[in-house]
Amino acid sequence: MIYLDHAAATPVSKKVFEAMKPYFAEDFFNPSAAYLPAKKVSADYEVAKGVIAHTIGAKASDIVITAGATEANNLAFSILASGGSCLYLETEHDSVRKVAEKYGGAPVGVDKNGRILIDDLKSKITDETMLISVALANNELGTIQPLSEIATIVREVRFDRLSRGIKKPLYLHSDASQALNLLNVNVARLGVDLLTLNAAKVYGPKGVGCLYVSHEVKLNPLNYGGGQEMGLRSGTENVPGVVGFAKAVEEATKHLNGNRKKYAAWRKILLSELVDYELINKKHSLDNFIVLCYNGIDAERLIFLLEEKGVYVSTGAACAANKGAKSHVLAAIGLSDSEINGSLRLTLGETNNEEQIHEAARLINEAVAIERGRNG
Ligand code: PLP
Repeated sequence: MIYLDHAAATPVSKKVFEAMKPYFAEDFFNPSAAYLPAKKVSADYEVAKGVIAHTIGAKASDIVITAGATEANNLAFSILASGGSCLYLETEHDSVRKVAEKYGGAPVGVDKNGRILIDDLKSKITDETMLISVALANNELGTIQPLSEIATIVREVRFDRLSRGIKKPLYLHSDASQALNLLNVNVARLGVDLLTLNAAKVYGPKGVGCLYVSHEVKLNPLNYGGGQEMGLRSGTENVPGVVGFAKAVEEATKHLNGNRKKYAAWRKILLSELVDYELINKKHSLDNFIVLCYNGIDAERLIFLLEEKGVYVSTGAACAANKGAKSHVLAAIGLSDSEINGSLRLTLGETNNEEQIHEAARLINEAVAIERGRNG
């Protein structure tokens, strides 16, 4: 198998799996219980939260553990439950887009590389805007957004509001689900008030994520119950999940530079050995994302042909692809329906090696040639 869909899911790494194991059947106690073994579990949970928080330059008390990035993104938008409007990048993942739409948010456009149109953002901020949400790296294109530039605009707006006696706050949220493997993610450097992380994309367990929440931000609870996670996300703590998440982020940050170099080299090999394509994500992309357009070919058919040869790729976000929906991301960067139809996303990761990259290029070229031949 050659798996080239690491943006959809990453396997739990051996180190992560080993770290999680004791917390299933041995140290299984409820962290809220009063006896000593439970207190140890509670302490381990807090240490793990501390490790996750530390990697983004925060403290354990600044992060709310959630059941994945979807919950974390939804929790960020709960800030709007008591009024205020929001702006979101039109290429955001559905877990941002759909909740932003629920709150009547307005989309901000992108250029042909998928980068935010700063002037569009500026023109859409009103005195009612309370939240701006821009993913650090896009999940279909890998496009990295200029977060600190956006944070500067947010600070200018705050300053202006203050000078005019307007009390409405303005906060910046970013979904960093796809970024943590390749970028140094630090909340102060990025200038964000809210930040989403996702264990499932960094060789940690699925269904575990977190939201960093800066001190000034007042959120509304995601659910109601035992009051865990500062009352924002009740429910018995997922101790193995969070311990695994901590190990995963620790490993990811340790190997950032090495991984970036490795994926950039593999990306170069693919781009030189593949034929007959147009590269979509030419600029500002994470090194492990390669989005190709084979105009005139049905990429869905390519995926099936490649699956028969043991190569797993996708047409875009796994959830959108599954519903047979047209990619809103590729449409936003101006691709025609036929170009979208012919687009393939390859995302490299830790299951790959260089030999696989050469083999993948050969098999993709072969599949494309078969499809071109079929089309006459
Ligand atoms: N945000 C981004 C950028 C993603 O890529 C994903 C997953 O594909 C999510 C959010 C949702 O994550 P989850 O399904 O783990 O809740």
